[in-house]
Amino acid sequence: MPKLALHWRILLGMFLGVSFGLIFSQYGWGKVFVIDWIKPFGTIFINALKLIAVPLILASLVKGVSDLKNIAQLSSMGGRTIGLYLLTTLTAVTIGLGVVNLIKPGNTISDETRSELLSAYASDAAAKQSVAAVQKEAGPLQALVDLVPSNIFAAMQDNGNMLQVIFFAIFFGIGLVLIPKKKSKPVKDFFDALNEVILKLIDLIMLAAPYGVFALLAALIAESPSADLFKALGLYTLTVLLGLVLMILFYLILVRLITGKKIGFFLKGISPAQLLAFSTSSSAATLPVTMERVQEHLGVEEEVTSFVLPIGATINMDGTSLYQAVAAVFIAQAFGMELSLGAQLGIIATATLASIGSAAVPGAGMVMLVIVLAQAGIPEAGLALIFAVDRPLDMCRTTVNVTGDASVSMLVAKWLGKLGKPKVKNWDDNYPKK
Ligand code: ASP
Repeated sequence: MPKLALHWRILLGMFLGVSFGLIFSQYGWGKVFVIDWIKPFGTIFINALKLIAVPLILASLVKGVSDLKNIAQLSSMGGRTIGLYLLTTLTAVTIGLGVVNLIKPGNTISDETRSELLSAYASDAAAKQSVAAVQKEAGPLQALVDLVPSNIFAAMQDNGNMLQVIFFAIFFGIGLVLIPKKKSKPVKDFFDALNEVILKLIDLIMLAAPYGVFALLAALIAESPSADLFKALGLYTLTVLLGLVLMILFYLILVRLITGKKIGFFLKGISPAQLLAFSTSSSAATLPVTMERVQEHLGVEEEVTSFVLPIGATINMDGTSLYQAVAAVFIAQAFGMELSLGAQLGIIATATLASIGSAAVPGAGMVMLVIVLAQAGIPEAGLALIFAVDRPLDMCRTTVNVTGDASVSMLVAKWLGKLGKPKVKNWDDNYPKK
């Protein structure tokens, strides 16, 4: 029997995980079994992915920057990357506002459902609000201050400090370009080799991906709240999903028109990363796989992937910004508030900034949503209204976040003449055979 391609194996793992979770959660002991004996394997899988994220960023970015001919190339790549990231995020928020104003899902929430949801999730919402309070108190230039670490080892200790590691790696890479070749060679060779090792580790971890996603999804189902509240939020969920689908279409059109690559080629290459994003709800945990897929399966040169993708995973969250726009207006509608054009334009600005500031971890988009709500004068307690469906929507928006990063890296590579043939023809042939 021919071996299934990786994305099919992951999909099979997901399907079996959901089925397993559904069957076992029928019984009290089944739930406990899934949580005690299955969930830990999912956690181990995510930990393994996170484990290599910081060394990967460091090695690949130092190598990527030091491979550049001169610093001017870096600034032209930087300008295009940031420009495209802003453009896609603004498009996402606009699509989000468009669909939510068209469908008006908040108007269908009855007073009864509203108070039921508000009381059921009040404490969860309050927890998110208190995390957001720290962000709200920060001064306008805090993000800039946070970019520069005072100690690189301390920065590398925390996966949440990814931007600091990125800053250090770029800075270090620039230093390498500026010193004589004879001196830089051993350092460059070291990072080159380190990078190769880490890419190989990703291949090894991906061998476990179908089992990892099985465990993650089985646990998610066993721990999910009752389906009744899901139903009340059906139209809101559909609105977010419609927006996300439109966003994916937007990427596909961009990639097709600008790079000339077939849509099937792009989707086949990136799908394992999308499936992992869906299963883990974390762009940061998915980053190693996104980098490997874009580089080896979509033909983007490493100088581009090493720069565009880690930055994208931290600041470009189109799915998140779209969700924040829809959620903010939905909550306003559910409270019977009319949002003026000015308030909606304000949401475009705050949702863009809030998605940039969201960490690439599960549920982060909802924390930053507090800031969008506060700016627009929408009651923050309204978070409780959307809590029940946040996790499934997080899975979907993270998939869009990762797809957006991959699309932008294809476009930047095309413009810089760094889009070549994929190194790997068969989807699996860089995975170890034995
Ligand atoms: N989970 C998302 C991500 O990692 C962020 C969010 O929207 O919560 O990309």
